[in-house]
Amino acid sequence: MRLSGKIAVVTGAGSGIGRAIAQRFAAEGARVVVAGRTRPGIEETARAIDAAGGEALAVVCDVTDAAAVTHAIARANEVFGPVDILVNNAGGSFGDDILTFDEDTWDRNFDLVLKSVYLCCREVLPQMIARGSGAIVNIGSVNGLTGIGEEAYGAAKAGMINLTQNMAMKYGPHGVRANVVAPGTIRTPIWNERLAERPNVFEALTAWYPLGRVGEPEDVANAALFLASDEASWITGVTLPVDGGLLAGSYRMNVDLSGGATSQQAPVSSRE
Ligand code: NDP
Repeated sequence: MRLSGKIAVVTGAGSGIGRAIAQRFAAEGARVVVAGRTRPGIEETARAIDAAGGEALAVVCDVTDAAAVTHAIARANEVFGPVDILVNNAGGSFGDDILTFDEDTWDRNFDLVLKSVYLCCREVLPQMIARGSGAIVNIGSVNGLTGIGEEAYGAAKAGMINLTQNMAMKYGPHGVRANVVAPGTIRTPIWNERLAERPNVFEALTAWYPLGRVGEPEDVANAALFLASDEASWITGVTLPVDGGLLAGSYRMNVDLSGGATSQQAPVSSRE
């Protein structure tokens, strides 16, 4: 068991990648606070963990709301104890092009993707520093590493990388590590709207990926587990793409994003 005795908080754990991380961490011995905006999803994750013999606490928490974050971490402390691991996973993307969306859309992206990380980290960092250990894993995106659209979302994910580097620098001497996992396309409910418009979106996107498939939530959970565990005890401030090789170079993605001139299909939107 790689996380025996650890207490982990996973945000956005009511579906997709967050659920997979929460389940994986619990299977590795962590007691997991399953935090998320809506109750049914987080309760389902917590039930699945319980059914598999793990320990979980579902806590409703809108990560853009400072008071809700304070409350969630207080509950974690009350029920389980001080937090060893924080996974900032809650996220989502609004709008695509800065010339077509409004200011409120810009703010929504930054609140959910970046401000939430600040709010959650500032709650757990003091307890990690006091105990001289802790691991923060932030779920970024390939959109934060290169210009492939969804401009506010990408900029906020890029900001997350810089915030993570600063936390790594500043709190490393106190035994706290902070890293980012940057997924490519992962098959989760975040794609539901897109799937409704274009049912073959994953098949189309597969062509972008050198490894010949899109990702699954477990691919990200495995990377998050490694970075959260003591196996990564000398790793901090890094961004680990979990992207099937996308950022190594994808000729097909570049063709599609530049208008799909040679593509048989309409260009695929850049999301993730
Ligand atoms: P999901 O939509 O399945 O999961 C996102 C989760 O975040 C949901 O459970 C959602 O809860 C929760 N959430 C949204 N807003 C808030 C909020 N304000 N407070 C608390 N929880 C909130 O998508 P994924 O699992 O795919 O996304 C997880 C992370 O992975 C995100 O940060 C995303 O940006 C990132 N990512 C995903 C990729 C992909 O292709 N799937 C690629 C790259 C990065 P609710 O349902 O209640 O709104």
